[in-house]
Amino acid sequence: MGTSKDYYQILGVPRDASAEEIKRAFRRLAMKYHPDRNKSPEAESKFKEINEAYEVLSNPDKRAVYDRYGHAGVEAVERGQPFDGFRFTGWGDIFEAFFGATISQRRPQRGADRRVSVELELEEAAFGCEKGVEIVRVEECPRCGGSGCEPGSGPTACPSCRGTGQVRRVHRNFFGQFINVTTCPQCRGEGMVVLHPCGECEGNGRLKRARTLWVRIPPGVEDGTQLRLTGEGDVGLHGGPPGNLYIVVQVRQHPLFQREGWDLIYPLELNVAQAALGYHARIPTLEGQEEVIYISPGTQHGQEFLLKGKGIPHLQGGGRGDLRVRVKVTVPKDLTPQQKALLEALAASFGTPIDGDQGHGAKRQLLDARG
Ligand SMILES: [Zn+2]
Ligand SMILES: [Zn+2]
Repeated sequence: MGTSKDYYQILGVPRDASAEEIKRAFRRLAMKYHPDRNKSPEAESKFKEINEAYEVLSNPDKRAVYDRYGHAGVEAVERGQPFDGFRFTGWGDIFEAFFGATISQRRPQRGADRRVSVELELEEAAFGCEKGVEIVRVEECPRCGGSGCEPGSGPTACPSCRGTGQVRRVHRNFFGQFINVTTCPQCRGEGMVVLHPCGECEGNGRLKRARTLWVRIPPGVEDGTQLRLTGEGDVGLHGGPPGNLYIVVQVRQHPLFQREGWDLIYPLELNVAQAALGYHARIPTLEGQEEVIYISPGTQHGQEFLLKGKGIPHLQGGGRGDLRVRVKVTVPKDLTPQQKALLEALAASFGTPIDGDQGHGAKRQLLDARG
């Protein structure tokens, strides 16, 4: 220590050089002046100087103190001596005290994710569609471009904290002088304030906006499917990336079909005569067309007939499920006298006992059970 030269000049970098620039400059100069390589008389002292400059500028805490208080500040902290009226006991405190909150609050932050649900008809879910989805999200203010300032003006260093984002208060007690560091209330740690706030966003730089987003729903989605739209969530803070938008699919009940995996179920009601004798049934498809299938004689309740490839298209492409026609045999009620006579004749031909409407059935069964 003790040199009066400027560390930035020694390394040949500007005062706002990045850590990477400082490292690169140091490497280049250290190679050039290394005493093993460079035999000129001033090489050794130059090499020491470069190392000293790098030791301070490569450490964010030391660099911060150097920027503010110069060599004297760095030396005072290393020796545990007070400087500028304050005493610090280690490098860790310095960073916290001057720069902790400022840096943490200015760090780029990713925008929040948004989630919105969209209701679809079964046809829309099956075949895909373009859907206008109403969303609310935080966007960059279009008037000020996110700066929060009226067009033509810019942010200025906060007068309360002189741009540091923090306010120091000194406490004195028997043991000495202590500082209490808090986030600056005027700029909330930002270090900058907007003197002429944008009329649109009131200086926030961001606005909550409702808008309709046109979303392409791929074929094959089902109830509960989540679609991710990368970068369509809230805008990020301090140059952070935007969040994502998640679209949660809800599928409305269809009046004709139920979905089972990639298949569609169509319940087909048949009466006893149709099921027994056979029947050409017209079956609606999800496309809104019609297919005719032949229900063979003697079809039982619950039996299924397949319309191959008339189900739901697979989400990842390639193929479709089937349309399964599920037979529901119904027993006729409220018979006309003629229908009743016909059924009685049918029963007689089967040789099966019937009771008609005499109401003796229960009684007879009871007697049978007693033997
Ligand atoms: Zn604005
Ligand atoms: Zn401030």
